[in-house]
Amino acid sequence: MTEPVVAPAIAPAEPATERVRAAVLSVGSELLLGDLTDTNATWLSARLRELGVDVVHHLAVKDDLDELVGAVRWLARTARLVVVGGGLGPTSDDLTREALAVAAEVPLEHRDDLEETIRARFASWGRPMPATNLKQARIPRGALTFPPAGTAPAFALTLAGGPTPTRVVALPGVPWELQQLFEQHVVPEVLALAGAGATVTRVVHVAGRGESDVAEVVEPVVAGRPDVTLAFLARSQEIEVRLTVRAEDPASARALSQPLVDEVVAALGPSVAGVDEESLEAVVLRLLDTTGTTLAAAESATSGDICARLGRVQKAAAHGFAGGCAVYSEQAKQALLDVPRALLDGPGAVSAEVTEVLAASVRNRIGTDWGLAVTGVAGPDTVRDLPVGTCFWALAHPDGHVEVHGRRIPGDRTQVMARLGSVALDLLRRRLLEH
Ligand code: ATP
Ligand code: MG
Repeated sequence: MTEPVVAPAIAPAEPATERVRAAVLSVGSELLLGDLTDTNATWLSARLRELGVDVVHHLAVKDDLDELVGAVRWLARTARLVVVGGGLGPTSDDLTREALAVAAEVPLEHRDDLEETIRARFASWGRPMPATNLKQARIPRGALTFPPAGTAPAFALTLAGGPTPTRVVALPGVPWELQQLFEQHVVPEVLALAGAGATVTRVVHVAGRGESDVAEVVEPVVAGRPDVTLAFLARSQEIEVRLTVRAEDPASARALSQPLVDEVVAALGPSVAGVDEESLEAVVLRLLDTTGTTLAAAESATSGDICARLGRVQKAAAHGFAGGCAVYSEQAKQALLDVPRALLDGPGAVSAEVTEVLAASVRNRIGTDWGLAVTGVAGPDTVRDLPVGTCFWALAHPDGHVEVHGRRIPGDRTQVMARLGSVALDLLRRRLLEH
């Protein structure tokens, strides 16, 4: 489990009497041509709201220096925080660095440390740095830089011109980079502006329960705690309960967060799939390890995704993950896992009966304690008149008995596959807890 993120104590610019007004500025001509939906603005708004900030504007601007400078100046007149996404790449249409330098009335400055960081990033990929990327080491003088998630260095600076100073944060447009940098470096900036001394954000991952159900359990635990901000994020496979605790300093925030997390975990019981960065698959592997048992998986609908998720966790094999079979076609089910022809012709490939055989068979074949199997109709086409989303999952236990479950899982093909994998892993997690 990784450490929770702790924000440094920064003195607030002024006492937080009212909510901070913020704006999101998305940069890229694709957004204006209708080629790209601005999901970054949506994501940023949701996070800023969670942090107690009022988002008053979304603005998208094409890759044009004058338009960009104008937009930044206009937003800075009304917002105390402007989050800019995009335009930090190495090509000639990436103009965010230049525009912010103009708006702040400072020159662009080459930073040796940034060049070093970018070169090191390319070296780690075994590639030389193209000359064009040198451009990314030039940022407005005086800006605070954040270590890049990809190659684009991100930064923050203050525009002092207006009635109150405006903090401007520039992040890359690539969604995962933007999100990662926001969580690591922008959250502390935001909370400093909002007047918090220091905060720690803890995340409790919940599987197999709906958002309102989770809220009903968690809200009473947090009730009457003005130092705690509670947020629920419905991810495709789980609910994230985010608890942000404010205190005078990081150590106090951390100390205050632990009993709260313990209380929330206790209240949610076995629905808790992990805390902070620990994923469902990491929890399953940890429990396999502590129970000293081993696992094999047979996957039809998910076609190897469950195995891939487990295999991505470090030292998966040492924790008891043996491997599995992607048995997508009927032929593969018969050849690799001895599914009888009669079952494929009778109940069909997507059925409780076939899923049960797959779980038992993969356990026997590979010689593990547990055998996990999934079948389903991921869509978009139906199979044998079964509606899209019809899914079965089965678990063969160490004593040989097999339990089978089934229901319709909502979503498109990708979501059905991801959710089915999680539902199956969550069943195993619960049984491991009982083991
Ligand atoms: P960078 O600052 O890292 O260069 P950029 O926006 O200049 O980012 P682009 O090449 O425009 O780089 O976009 C990179 C990827 O990020 C593309 O796949 C694009 O779809 C995605 N992207 C950029 N901006 C947004 C946005 N506002 N919402 C969703 N996706 C975005
Ligand atoms: Mg762009």
